[in-house]
Amino acid sequence: MPLYDFRCRVCGRTFEAMAPMDGSDGVCACGGTAERLVSVGKAYRADADWIDSVTDVVDKASPSPHVRAFLADPSRANYRRFLRGEKIRPMEAGEFRRPAARNDAVRREVRERFIARNGL
Ligand SMILES: [Zn+2]
Repeated sequence: MPLYDFRCRVCGRTFEAMAPMDGSDGVCACGGTAERLVSVGKAYRADADWIDSVTDVVDKASPSPHVRAFLADPSRANYRRFLRGEKIRPMEAGEFRRPAARNDAVRREVRERFIARNGL
């Protein structure tokens, strides 16, 4: 059986599952029936792959509009809206990188300790 994309009618989760080619509904992990999505190509799949890991940990019972919107349509735009609603500031590109100067200082200290320890 081939892989298809589904969206749950109950919790809004999107997922991939093997299914027969007859167009029948899928079944979500929450027990809800899931409609088959028309494949929209690689970009959508790349998004869905990491967004699924977020929807997995979202409080499905939350009545907050930003949570409902994200679960109903877990797009990048709704993900950012969800983060704002949760008072989480999205990380900017490159923010995780340490300043180079700090790395240099650590590297220098490790080298000096190594030299001192080994009497070089
Ligand atoms: Zn579901």
